Parts: sequence; C-alpha cells; structure tokens
Amino acid sequence: MLIRVDEIPEAGRTLRFHWDQEKLEQFVPPDDPFGIKLSRPINVVLDVNRRTDHIRVEGRIEGALDVTCHRCLSVFSYPIDERVDVYLVEEDPDAREDEKELEADELLHEFFDGEVIDIDQLVAEQIFLSLPVKVLCSEECKGICPRCGVNLNEEACRCKSDAKGSPFTKLASIKAGLPGFKTDER
Ligand SMILES: [Zn+2]
Ligand SMILES: [Zn+2]
Repeated sequence: MLIRVDEIPEAGRTLRFHWDQEKLEQFVPPDDPFGIKLSRPINVVLDVNRRTDHIRVEGRIEGALDVTCHRCLSVFSYPIDERVDVYLVEEDPDAREDEKELEADELLHEFFDGEVIDIDQLVAEQIFLSLPVKVLCSEECKGICPRCGVNLNEEACRCKSDAKGSPFTKLASIKAGLPGFKTDER
C-alpha cells in the first residue's frame, strides 16, 4: 500500500487493514531464520498525519505468528502486539539537523522521499523488529537432546537413564550386593 503525502487530508487519515499469509510472504526474507507463518491475520490500524516537517504514523499492529523455537525447534504461536509511532522525515541534506534533534528525543524515525509513503514496508519492519533475535517457546525451554534429538520439554530421553547407569552407580549397586555391605538405598 502506497500513500501519496499530498493526498493526506489536513485532519489526517486512518488506515485499517489486515495482512494474510500471502501478504506476509512478500516481506519474509529468503533466509528467514524463524520459519514465519501467520497463526491468525495481522490487524493493522494506523493514523497518518501530516506535520510541517514530518509525517507521523501512529497506531497498532496486532496478530500472531507461527514461529520455530530456537532451542527445541517446535513451532508455536507468537503474539504480536506492537504500538507504532514512527516519524517519517523527508530525506534531504538540510534535514540532517532535524534528524539529530529527533534522535535526541528518542523517536523512531525514518526517511522517505517526501512524496510517497510505503505503508506495507513500514508494517513489515514493525513486525520483524518485534521479534527477538532468538525466539523461544518459553524462557524455561529445555531444548532438544544433542545426542538423541528428543524434545526434552515433552519427554525425558534415554541418554539420561544411560547417565544413571554410569560406572559409579553400577559400582554402588555391586557394593550393595556384597555381603556385609549396607547402604541407605536398600
Ligand atoms: Zn522451545
Ligand atoms: Zn537424549
């Protein structure tokens, strides 16, 4: 969706639309590490307002993505609920001072050609920025066993019971079986 700046009314313009899977796919990078799919459509509401030296885009992006857990590789639904507040500044050598001022105010700002705003690009950036570098299904995710590949959140793997059969425990059970030797375990 492209919006021409000179077509934004004085009172501003409110955009309401949603993204489906097909739309999202246009923006997913080819080397997408998340395996992103939509769990439900992404709803977007944006107010676009013209100001003297910038365009302000404010609103909300809400939905859910199916992503792959970095640790256990299971696919889970990751909720997106992003407040958007972006200042679009016309890219111009004279605007550099404004850029510094805006940065000082810690506002999220971007440059554009001053004529056309690429709303889809803006929405895509907000969605991808909302994802952490490594998405985890939970902070306590136990991941997969590096030896047998079992998802340790779902089941205990055999590697662990092998560990129980370590030389030391075997030694203990042999000792326990010897006459005159008693352990608390028996
Ligand atoms: Zn996980
Ligand atoms: Zn294992």
